Amino acid sequence: MRRMTQELQFLKTLSERIALPKNDQNELRRLENGFAGEQALDRLQAVLTQEILPCMDDLLLKANSSCVQIDKLLVVDGVTYVVDVKNYRGSYLFSEDEWIRNGLPLQENILEQLHNAMRAVKRIFIQEHVSLEVKGVLAFINPAANIEIKSEVSDLILTTRDISGWLLDLLGKAQAKSDTGHWQRALEKKLFPNFKYKRTLPSEFSNRLRSGIACRNCGKYHLIESRYSMDCLDCGHREPKETAYVRTICQCGVIFNDCDLSLAMLCRFFGETVNKRYLQEVLAKHFEVKFHKGRSTCYLNKGVLFVYWFEEKLDYFNGLEKRLNWNHAPLN
Ligand SMILES: [Zn+2]
Repeated sequence: MRRMTQELQFLKTLSERIALPKNDQNELRRLENGFAGEQALDRLQAVLTQEILPCMDDLLLKANSSCVQIDKLLVVDGVTYVVDVKNYRGSYLFSEDEWIRNGLPLQENILEQLHNAMRAVKRIFIQEHVSLEVKGVLAFINPAANIEIKSEVSDLILTTRDISGWLLDLLGKAQAKSDTGHWQRALEKKLFPNFKYKRTLPSEFSNRLRSGIACRNCGKYHLIESRYSMDCLDCGHREPKETAYVRTICQCGVIFNDCDLSLAMLCRFFGETVNKRYLQEVLAKHFEVKFHKGRSTCYLNKGVLFVYWFEEKLDYFNGLEKRLNWNHAPLN
């Protein structure tokens, strides 16, 4: 599953509890837009090619002292395609080595970003004795993008109309996963391990955070807690109570990603109406103790959202949803 970057998780979770400053709002919109574009390409690929194409998504590779991020990498018929997904709208022109929008050159050189990523892949392949050609692909996934190419480009520039045809063409050349193996291990060696997003929340922000459990459907904070569920007064959505607590603990972990989790901190995050005993039960049941300090316990903070933190326990949480639906199924 493609994951939101930690920066996106942080800004998104924060925006649900505080009014973000303008520059953070813009950054959040940019990241959400980029992520939506990557997901759209994933969906298209899954529908058309049934996951047959040898592929790695969302790579963060070491390149000398820095790192490069690659949205998608496909290997078919001796060629590695480094794919950069752009979820742009509007009219773009490529002319004389420059991208132009509304008559103005784009500040960021999007082909240079792609070439930088390709260089990192080429260097790794040479070092690891992988003999594959490396090609760049710029995929404009948004149907509202109008792309005009007026000068020579060595990379593949695809609009939303071209992408399906290109994927099907690759499918025709692919030999059912036979291309996986050496190249994948070579890249995996150079992945950035546990890349940690370093932004922390200034104290003036943490004092102003909206506390409590937000409805997972409408995002509002008017929930009624009963024995097994949290019910939203605004939209009527019902969520298993255990899930709502675990999900909210994870949100606290995302915002305070530089700290361990403690009961005191979580009680502040959940607010005055917190069911402290239940919170303790949930912590003991689902979270890993890191250490005990005096009478308090610190829990390991993975700093990621519920869907990622509990990726391997989703069956358990799906079971809770089912049980909640049975209990409230109509009697006829
Ligand atoms: Zn709601």
